[in-house]
Amino acid sequence: MIQIKDLHKSYHMGSNSLHVLKGINFNVKEGELVSIMGSSGSGKSTLLNILGMLDEADEGSYTLDNVPIKNLNEKIAARYRNEFLGFVFQSFNLINYKSALDNVALPLFYKGITRKERSEKAAHYLEKVGLAEWSHHLPSELSGGQKQRVAIARALASEPKVLLADEPTGALDTKTSYEVMDLIQGINDEGKTILVVTHEDDIAHMTKRIVNLKDGLIIDDSTVEQVRAQQYV
Ligand code: ADP
Ligand code: MG
Repeated sequence: MIQIKDLHKSYHMGSNSLHVLKGINFNVKEGELVSIMGSSGSGKSTLLNILGMLDEADEGSYTLDNVPIKNLNEKIAARYRNEFLGFVFQSFNLINYKSALDNVALPLFYKGITRKERSEKAAHYLEKVGLAEWSHHLPSELSGGQKQRVAIARALASEPKVLLADEPTGALDTKTSYEVMDLIQGINDEGKTILVVTHEDDIAHMTKRIVNLKDGLIIDDSTVEQVRAQQYV
């Protein structure tokens, strides 16, 4: 599903530049649940933004579902982004004056889906995340965990090939974090390819494979079983 080869990315600020990704290689197969782990500033969001086509690498190659992602014009890039990718962020990014249902339905409007189908799909995905009864509530009436469920339903409603989540539990307490990760595991069990960025060890351990990023390089890429075995050596 995802192939990246020798990816580099620097940020330039005036005469200063910061080499954030220094040659990243990894592949993700369809149906995997992978975490990208690393301390704050290690380049996790930079990498996820490139995978999400929100930013471009300086060097290297990226293939998403057999499509080489390079020098695409903005229109085609936007189409691939909408067709292939779903996003979940730490800060939920919901629209405050719209109900949970309308938040989930909105991206479908931009895909040209009819009103009836939009609300059916939105209702279906809200039910999937356990929020059927909360459809008509505003984000301000929901807990943090519920807001993140709405954001997950919104991402799923577009039926993306890959779900990208940047610190999805970063704003949640421990118990709620585990509940949201349970939901993400369930979605993966149904076959969805999911990448979760996190700096928290216990969250990473709720995925199946941990890619560890440090100083712009992958220093470890192992299944959770392998990581556990290493810890007991
Ligand atoms: P992480 O998500 O692992 O915390 P980031 O990818 O957000 O790390 O950032 C990696 C490094 O790049 C940090 O030092 C950060 O300050 C820097 N950085 C991130 N985005 C930008 C930007 N748009 N311009 C300049 N520097 C940036
Ligand atoms: Mg980040």
